[in-house]
Amino acid sequence: MNIDSIQNGIVIDHITAGRGMELYDLLNLGALDVSIAIIKNVSSRKMGKKDIIKIDADIPVDLDVIGYVDPNATINIIRDGVLVEKKSLSLPERLVNVLKCKNPRCISSTEQELDHIFKLTDKEHKLYRCVYCETKAN
Ligand code: ZN
Repeated sequence: MNIDSIQNGIVIDHITAGRGMELYDLLNLGALDVSIAIIKNVSSRKMGKKDIIKIDADIPVDLDVIGYVDPNATINIIRDGVLVEKKSLSLPERLVNVLKCKNPRCISSTEQELDHIFKLTDKEHKLYRCVYCETKAN
């Protein structure tokens, strides 16, 4: 894949340097059979250094996950080699099946089929709590 010329796909830009791999893992991109490039420590006038993920396929990505890892990242949707849409992100109010509760007695730990749901309780400190037992995410 020529990483500079994606025809149809998604470029996640302005990722905080060092978080590209974390995002790659949380988005479960390793499980996809598509061309993906993670470019680390790219010089950025705005940020000093940044990471970029290029996905050479028109697949849905979980914007909540990206917003959670890095609300300052930007999403560029490329179609036929042209940038057709730019999306900015914010911290999601709820995260479903992104994080797992660390409380072993939480109902989401014992009931396999329950969704793991976390709620943003403090935007300034990016604090999420389990909706079942209120345990902090981090
Ligand atoms: Zn819990």
